[in-house]
Amino acid sequence: MTDRIPGRRLLHSPGPTPLPDEVLHAMSVQPMDLGDARVDANIAACEAGLRRLLGSSAADVFFYASNGHGVWEAVVENLAAPGQAVLVPGTGHFSESWAVQTEALGRTVVRTPWREGWPIDVEAVEQALRDDRGHAIQAVFAVHTDTASGVTSDIAAIRRAMAAAGHPALLVADVVASLGAAPFAMDALGLDVAVGASQKGLMCPPGLGIVAVNARGMAAARHNPAPRFYWDWLRRRDPLSYRKFCGTAPQNLMFGLEAALGLIFREGLDAVHARHRLLAGLVQAAVEGWREGGALDFFSRDESCRSVSVTTIAVKGVDVDALRRIARERFQVAVAGGLGPLAGRAFRIGHLGDSNPALILGALGGVEAALLTLGVNVGDGGTRRAVQRLAQS
Ligand SMILES: *Cc1c(COP(=O)(O)O)cnc(C)c1O
Repeated sequence: MTDRIPGRRLLHSPGPTPLPDEVLHAMSVQPMDLGDARVDANIAACEAGLRRLLGSSAADVFFYASNGHGVWEAVVENLAAPGQAVLVPGTGHFSESWAVQTEALGRTVVRTPWREGWPIDVEAVEQALRDDRGHAIQAVFAVHTDTASGVTSDIAAIRRAMAAAGHPALLVADVVASLGAAPFAMDALGLDVAVGASQKGLMCPPGLGIVAVNARGMAAARHNPAPRFYWDWLRRRDPLSYRKFCGTAPQNLMFGLEAALGLIFREGLDAVHARHRLLAGLVQAAVEGWREGGALDFFSRDESCRSVSVTTIAVKGVDVDALRRIARERFQVAVAGGLGPLAGRAFRIGHLGDSNPALILGALGGVEAALLTLGVNVGDGGTRRAVQRLAQS
């Protein structure tokens, strides 16, 4: 066991995120017999809560005992047969990971280029769809917030580009990092499939993958000849909980999710989104201060596309591993590093889920102390600016 940490270590990775006490308590129950009515009631509550959170009146919601990569696989297996194609617009590390996984499953991936620091290139998406005259592309897999770059793309603009190109592909959005943090309206967006996971804005432990599928998505799955079993939406569309989960439901995680959804709706969706905007603004205020020292800057080039969930901070001449180690071991603040092509070039501060200004200021203070320890020039500092921004909020 690790030594006890006085107080607590602040967790500011963009997932997993800290758990509310209410979620922890809801999970500490004895497992139940599969026929227990509480199991069915819990699953129904989670399905209804997810529809409400996603802004969908009638989507089928499927839960998997998996992480986000599991539900990526579910989408691939249900929507495209081996040899068929999907379009993955470049957002950075997460779009590329999904594309590589899709190819490993024998599907063909058409990519649009990733522009570092920028959201999805919507014109390139439209062009790629126009170029696909035979409509070989079955679906567009778009990452809403790329958790590596900290950039949020405009899903509505992608839907418009698909319409402009007259392309019938399905639209799938990965909202793992934005669900429960940023507004999202599945029906209004004309989104066919949404993909989520428990351990980010949903304030639950890792281990639950979530997919919501509209009627068009279900019809596509029905016509897809790809062999599949565990991931199959048709097989899981069943009133029996044992079939819904293709086996035993991860009951305790599901009880945690029901509690988390209850917290979100009790606070109010608008209030939850406003809180995330406020906290992101505090982190951005700090970065505006730090960047004056010349060693740090926003990775995201377009201010309006900066994520409310995570801020990616590009560094020049800073040892990111040392920074994270000092912040974590000496100052009790855990932040994330750069992923994929950003390894060593960036670090990330998560500000999603169960958080508040005091936690964010603590995290910023710990990060600033670690930067100072390493002799990094942080200008006049950033934490003070965050305090000022908070005072004006
Ligand atoms: C975290 C994340 C994933 C992957 O989730 P895992 O649970 O780590 O497999 C996928 N997409 C996005 C946008 C994420 O932030």
